Amino acid sequence: MDTFANFIAGEWRTSDQTSRNINPSDLDDVIGEYAVASPADANDAISAASAAADAWRHATPQQRFDALDFIASEILARKEELGDLLAREEGKTRPEGIGEAGRAGQIFKFFAGEALRGGGDVLPSVRPGVKVEITREPVGVVGAITPWNFPIAIPAWKIAPALAYGNCVVFKPAGLVPGSAWALSEIISRSGLPNGVFNLVMGSGGVVGEALLKSDKVNAVTFTGSVETGAHVLAATSARGAKAQLEMGGKNPLIVLDDADLDIAVDCAVQGAFYSTGQRCTASSRIIVTEGIADRFVEALAKATQALTVGDARDGSTQIGPLADASQLAKTEEYVALGQEEGAKLIAGGAPVAIEGRKGFFYAPALLDHATSAMRVAREEIFGPVATVQRVADYEAALAAANDTEFGLSAGICTQSLAKAEHFKANAQAGMVMVNLPTAGVDYHVPFGGRKASSFGPREQGSYAREFYTTVKTAYQRSA
Ligand code: NAP
Repeated sequence: MDTFANFIAGEWRTSDQTSRNINPSDLDDVIGEYAVASPADANDAISAASAAADAWRHATPQQRFDALDFIASEILARKEELGDLLAREEGKTRPEGIGEAGRAGQIFKFFAGEALRGGGDVLPSVRPGVKVEITREPVGVVGAITPWNFPIAIPAWKIAPALAYGNCVVFKPAGLVPGSAWALSEIISRSGLPNGVFNLVMGSGGVVGEALLKSDKVNAVTFTGSVETGAHVLAATSARGAKAQLEMGGKNPLIVLDDADLDIAVDCAVQGAFYSTGQRCTASSRIIVTEGIADRFVEALAKATQALTVGDARDGSTQIGPLADASQLAKTEEYVALGQEEGAKLIAGGAPVAIEGRKGFFYAPALLDHATSAMRVAREEIFGPVATVQRVADYEAALAAANDTEFGLSAGICTQSLAKAEHFKANAQAGMVMVNLPTAGVDYHVPFGGRKASSFGPREQGSYAREFYTTVKTAYQRSA
């Protein structure tokens, strides 16, 4: 069986301890053994990044562009193979995996360009004979801590801007999906970056994550994951004055109004709620429908949900792959049972799916009708293929229900009314708003992020990413 090492200070370093990467569509399929870093490995990576920071900060824009462009081009050229690996280890379907790998390549392309664009301002001073220059400098060493559900795109949207703006990186991927992280890192290792500029440290949150949070040599931590871990990241980084950026959970509403195009609304709901097996922070987990269309919409949605093909993520006919691991499956089952105890009615799916000759975490997407905002299934992030349906009187009640949540990542509406769409865009309490589109599915060249408990700190992606990965300097100069 293949064993995959960490990449520290420009060298591949094995570990005494390894973890086994298992295919959630086929528990007999072991993808490989991946290094589990020790505290010393984590600290060596941090020291290597710190030692490389000064030189990389002064690297020319061309050097940064060349490295990022190399990474981008190779990811794009190998997106089918990388997407297949992603499907094999995370469980999203092969087309979704290939799409995600392609997205990672596009992100690196975008930030290769950002390395060249640089930027800054020159202003006249309020004092005579003085010039003011406003420039941006790298923050130094960035710790990137990522979740398992987008194992290549999320690392890409953290690592690419960090490098483009002149920072060194220590990358700690989620323990569940080291394969895609390793494959990405292997490409990065051949991109011409000086030793120490990029480091891969696979290992647990308790060891590698904690080392990143606590080390004074780590100037900024960019984190995506759960609200609980995010709160801990923020407390630990703010205690020592380091920068933190957090992207966390969601409980995203999709409103369907009486005047919605039924086919578009059903498509948005099915895609948003169940694709990627519902394991997306932007999943449409709360569907809020007004009473004039409710019966027709719910009937069509239930039919479309039941028609989804659940199976092996790499099988061409599969639309919904397995849950990522046993705990994800157990949590999903618990919430579907809870929803029914709370009074919601299960109208589609909601049971494990048996596939002959296969051990995998397969589950039929669940639709819970007649939910209310008071129910835990409508308030807590499930992070699985489960959607609740809330029936409300009108647009005003729908908007109130949509905003009645601690989260604020993405919010959608299906309507043909321009006035309602405009009102919703202005009044939805979310970082991203979708009209006649699923709540999930975003572009890579524009900002990504949310409000309330979903996010903390500057936005990720697009040129807005610069805010987190740089620090501003204001220089005053008197003419001689
Ligand atoms: P998680 O359990 O919070 O883990 C996220 C990362 O934090 C993992 O790499 C994890 O390491 C690490 N970690 C755990 N304990 C840590 C500690 N004490 N110190 C530092 N790092 C630590 O989240 P997850 O289950 O992987 O991901 C699912 C969550 O991510 C969901 O809530 C989802 O909504 C959210 N998410 C948000 C976005 C967004 O952009 N808003 C995007 C995708 C996912 P281990 O792997 O070792 O546990």
